[in-house]
Amino acid sequence: MAYELPNLPYAKDALAPHISEETLNFHHGKHHNTYVVNLNNLLDGDSSKSLEDLMKETAGDASKAGVFNNAAQIWNHTFYWHSMKPNGGGKPTGAIAAKIDEDFGSYDKFVEEFKTAGATQFGSGWAWLVLEGGKLKVTKTPNAECPLTAGATPLLTMDVWEHAYYIDFQNRRPDYISTFLESLVNWDFANENLANA
Ligand code: MN
Repeated sequence: MAYELPNLPYAKDALAPHISEETLNFHHGKHHNTYVVNLNNLLDGDSSKSLEDLMKETAGDASKAGVFNNAAQIWNHTFYWHSMKPNGGGKPTGAIAAKIDEDFGSYDKFVEEFKTAGATQFGSGWAWLVLEGGKLKVTKTPNAECPLTAGATPLLTMDVWEHAYYIDFQNRRPDYISTFLESLVNWDFANENLANA
């Protein structure tokens, strides 16, 4: 059995007008799918290992960069789709809200850190909310890298590769980041990940 492209957890037009159907057609249908095709080619269709195990085994090994990059890009993108939902955004509720207040001081302080992480990731990469050593942290990673391989538990992610926002926001990455937080972020998903951490 080969790895498969997971379905989006919502319709292709469900995040519009913030993220358009056209963006999701390219980003899920082309970019995400290409990582699946590439990984299957590299492993001759062997999908016996979980993506997480593959990522942990190959992280930091230059001779396995192709496997790591494609496996991690599949994982990161699936995690990103779930990090958004139609009519999402705004302040969190539940356990994640209390934990944000505890570990960042306030929701506004979290927003400031998350926006900075997304805006200052030079080139391609990701901004993350993670649980590390029992505390929430905002981090950023370049290219395909994922906090999972560094011992942290991802709770949310935002793709800041240009292909994530260029059709809808052109070069205005800060506007995409604000929209992600105000209208898209899926706090239910963060709460599930926190509960399972
Ligand atoms: Mn992407």
